[in-house]
Amino acid sequence: MTIVRMEVTTHEIELDPPFQAAWDPTPRTAFPVTIVRVFDSGGAVGIGSGGTLADLHEYQHLFVGEDPLDLDRHGKVIANISFHGARMWPLDVAIWDLAGKLADRPVWQMVGGRSNRVRPYLSTGTHRSVTETVESAEQALAVGFGAIKLRFGRPSLDDDFATLAAVRSAVGSELEIMVDCNQGWRMPWDTTPTWTLEIARTVGVRLDELDVFWMEEPLHRGAYTEMATLRSELNVRLAGGEMTRDSHEFSALLDHGSLDVYQPDVVLTGGFGGLASLAAAVEAAGALFTPHTWGNGIGLIANCHLAAGAAASPYLEYPSDGSQWSIDRRDYPLVKPMVPDADGMLALSEEPGLGLELDEERLNFTKISVRTYSERD
Ligand SMILES: [Mg+2]
Repeated sequence: MTIVRMEVTTHEIELDPPFQAAWDPTPRTAFPVTIVRVFDSGGAVGIGSGGTLADLHEYQHLFVGEDPLDLDRHGKVIANISFHGARMWPLDVAIWDLAGKLADRPVWQMVGGRSNRVRPYLSTGTHRSVTETVESAEQALAVGFGAIKLRFGRPSLDDDFATLAAVRSAVGSELEIMVDCNQGWRMPWDTTPTWTLEIARTVGVRLDELDVFWMEEPLHRGAYTEMATLRSELNVRLAGGEMTRDSHEFSALLDHGSLDVYQPDVVLTGGFGGLASLAAAVEAAGALFTPHTWGNGIGLIANCHLAAGAAASPYLEYPSDGSQWSIDRRDYPLVKPMVPDADGMLALSEEPGLGLELDEERLNFTKISVRTYSERD
């Protein structure tokens, strides 16, 4: 069996009301989605999604004609490409989906088979009023979530803390609360500096007082030593690594003891093979492995296979925030949205590969472009 063709389609839906992401100064009025499909000589197809795969024309010859089951090799090639150019990890996701279909195995089994379930935490994405945020948390508790993540980054830290304190007082100890400081990286157009160690320390002490489960990205992603210092001073767990690009950067975080919680995203780094290995290293270091996911539901499902199959993840990020980031928006490429089951868990089936089905009608309706790659030389 060989890979004969790759197809990349782009799609977009309008966001009205706009999505005002807490980490982005520019409100988002559209939601673009890129989907990659990898076809083999027997007619099977694997599906991935994530970044735009803009460079794929330069590298198509490295995949066309290759055996889709040669997963280690593909992961290494994609890691090489991701150094020279754009992150190509959605292609890794698609090849694993294809390989799973050929082997008649779900990806969660292929990456370790530890479980087919993982507990989601509700990851909010916007800054709402105190009252609305408390309502969101109460609603999360009512529908069975065990944890909620709030976003800092309002113009005043006092407002961030007023919101957090109100949520804690409303839900007591029944709901774990994470706080994302969003200081690890910036959008390309955002030149505001990231926090200093002093600011992070001041915030962290107050998060300790409010018994927060983890403090996410309190410092720049490369501040390995400062994060280790902060970690030694605080009780709250430190989390990070959602946009970390290279495996040696994760090694540096581990070597420095910078984090309690590692949050790589399979559509952004490492692929299934690389991140299954990282999960083992993280757990051997006594830390937690709980993938980041944002974007559309294909990435959520891919990270669910990783978190359930390869690690003892206590939680998986579950993006959802009212009408601004609804499940319908997030999962518009899918026939079936990814929602928690009656036990509050995200559960994967025995379907081979990723076990997802694209909503072809909606994808056709929202399609902007199609690119096809089938050149061997
Ligand atoms: Mg984050």
